[in-house]
Amino acid sequence: MIKIRNQSQSPTRFVMDPYEQLNAFQWIESNGLELVGIFHSHPTGPEVVSVTDIAEAAYPVVHVIVSRAGRDWSMRAFWIENGRAEEVELMLAR
Ligand SMILES: [Zn+2]
Repeated sequence: MIKIRNQSQSPTRFVMDPYEQLNAFQWIESNGLELVGIFHSHPTGPEVVSVTDIAEAAYPVVHVIVSRAGRDWSMRAFWIENGRAEEVELMLAR
């Protein structure tokens, strides 16, 4: 997992810092890896991708949303393509 700072510094908006994003992509490529997913949080919900998430999805990867409802956090994953989001099964492995 590579952490990238939220350039917008907002609890309701996420914009990856472009310098950190470029460094992450270069690190992935230089290590022979493949980007398979991007996650971000929705600290106050919703637990699904937003209209903005769909509009700004730029990479063919799984988009994971970590959200909180009350005191409980959850994770859901979505594939976004052609302006539509479809939930995909998320399996965690150790
Ligand atoms: Zn979002």
